[in-house]
Amino acid sequence: MRYDRPDMNTEIQRVIIVGGGTAGWLSACLLAAKRPELSVTLVEAPDIPTIGVGEGTWPTMRATLATIGIEESEFVACCDASFKQGSRFDGWVTGDADDSYLHPFTPPPPCATEALVAAWATRNAARPLPFADAMTAQAATVARHLAPRQASMPGYAGALNYAYHLDAGKFAALLMRHATCRLGVAHLTTRITDVVMKPDGNIVSLVAENGSAISGDLFIDCSGLAGILIGQHCGVGWVDRSDVLFNDSALAVQVPVLPGSAIASATIATAHQAGWIWDIGLPGRRGIGCIYASRFMGDDAARAVLMDYVAQAVPGADLSALSPRKISFPTGHREQFWYGNCLAVGLSAGFLEPLEASAIVMIELSLQALCANFPKSQATMTIHADRFNALFRYRWDRIVEFLKLHYLPSKRREPYWLAQRDPAHVPPRLMALMALWRDQPPSEWDFPQAHEIFPAESHAYVLYGMGFAPPPFSGDSAEAQARLDEVAHRSRALASALPTNRSLLQHASVEPVLESLS
Ligand SMILES: Cc1cc2nc3c(=O)[nH]c(=O)nc-3n(C[C@H](O)[C@H](O)[C@H](O)COP(=O)(O)OP(=O)(O)OC[C@H]3O[C@@H](n4cnc5c(N)ncnc54)[C@H](O)[C@@H]3O)c2cc1C
Repeated sequence: MRYDRPDMNTEIQRVIIVGGGTAGWLSACLLAAKRPELSVTLVEAPDIPTIGVGEGTWPTMRATLATIGIEESEFVACCDASFKQGSRFDGWVTGDADDSYLHPFTPPPPCATEALVAAWATRNAARPLPFADAMTAQAATVARHLAPRQASMPGYAGALNYAYHLDAGKFAALLMRHATCRLGVAHLTTRITDVVMKPDGNIVSLVAENGSAISGDLFIDCSGLAGILIGQHCGVGWVDRSDVLFNDSALAVQVPVLPGSAIASATIATAHQAGWIWDIGLPGRRGIGCIYASRFMGDDAARAVLMDYVAQAVPGADLSALSPRKISFPTGHREQFWYGNCLAVGLSAGFLEPLEASAIVMIELSLQALCANFPKSQATMTIHADRFNALFRYRWDRIVEFLKLHYLPSKRREPYWLAQRDPAHVPPRLMALMALWRDQPPSEWDFPQAHEIFPAESHAYVLYGMGFAPPPFSGDSAEAQARLDEVAHRSRALASALPTNRSLLQHASVEPVLESLS
């Protein structure tokens, strides 16, 4: 449908969000909390389910929840959340039993990176010491399933940097209650069947299945992989990245755990012959999924890999009660994320395999950018759109490279792993960085943006965790040695001071929280 009306100076006041998954409700909460002058309406189809996965987050989530006004205790209790301090990668280098490294959220101590890496290399040569264990006390807490904070600390404060594991369905439900009961977001449950557009490509209104029109000034497409506004109606194309990241399928299960059992403080990503398995510990269950590339592995083989893993990782699990859910996913992102007065957020903007939980953080960052640079009228919309598109294209490119990095230092010989390391499937910028990193460690010169998602430190954790050779160093590493001594001391102190993930979570009380939302 088409419609024409010049309204360049009309103030942008009415925001319409399509989709009630994590992207939709996070967008609604952040806009309503940070831009209370706006009218925010969320429309979701009652008969199109959300994707229902997405249970590992990034430390940005603490600031996001605080900004929208949800207490940490309320969030933890309502979402069956647990504390996440990073990701542990098992089997990525050789596949042997002792092949494991950690990408923790806490960065190395403040000191010149070259000297720190050299100081670690010296210690590692004397007696094997994993890179993460040398660089942060977080490795010791993760190894012991400890929480990153003590119960007496104020909400969202920690002794170490942390994020959460959560139940995706419960998270969307909490955000919905918070948005509608406390932040004044209007909620419509109806399927959008058509869109009225102006000749210039801007959206005027959405058409619901009963024929009613939903008018707005800015439209946020959170309709998931369907991308009904950005793709189907605005016609923005898709940039396929599957030539670099091969995985396109997942088989997911939820495995109940015994009350009182240990809850891992990191996402565990275990490599297999044609992909990897995620394992996310919540208080009542583990979310486990096999990610694989259908070009290298069939569904039956993936199912067998998944069941073998569950049998070993969750002793006593009733395998016959598990029915894995298959999810196929595209790998890539939109050519543009903001087109006319339509912004794509969440899966409608793009998706890459969930190896470092980069999807929900991209939702948070999209809203951060939008709220800080909100278009006052149609007159500046294109300027905002161009800036947003440039920033987020940069971010998608960096995530593609960072995920690919996890495959490059591997020594695994299965066809999938050999293909992953084929230079024809490695982005040229990453190839160049890998060459540089033979001479110097990753640094802020490689990642010059103010708000990099994965900074140089994250790259160092992966590279040296996987056994990439540290560069030669001829400088003075005395200060770096002192910093590493401090880390070793702090590791011992925190290992005896912090509660376990499980015991800290048991501290949270559910009743008062649920009452306050009823
Ligand atoms: C296997 C897998 C594992 C993942 N793991 C992680 C992880 O650990 N960490 C992480 O950060 N991310 C992860 N993700 C990504 C994460 O799940 C998503 O980014 C997140 O859930 C956001 O999804 P969404 O809200 O964009 O879409 P969805 O959850 O699909 O929601 C889409 C919404 O749009 C509505 N809708 C669709 N069409 C219409 C219509 N015509 N009219 C009205 N409404 C409509 C639907 O009803 C629904 O409410 C994972 C994804 C996959 C596939």
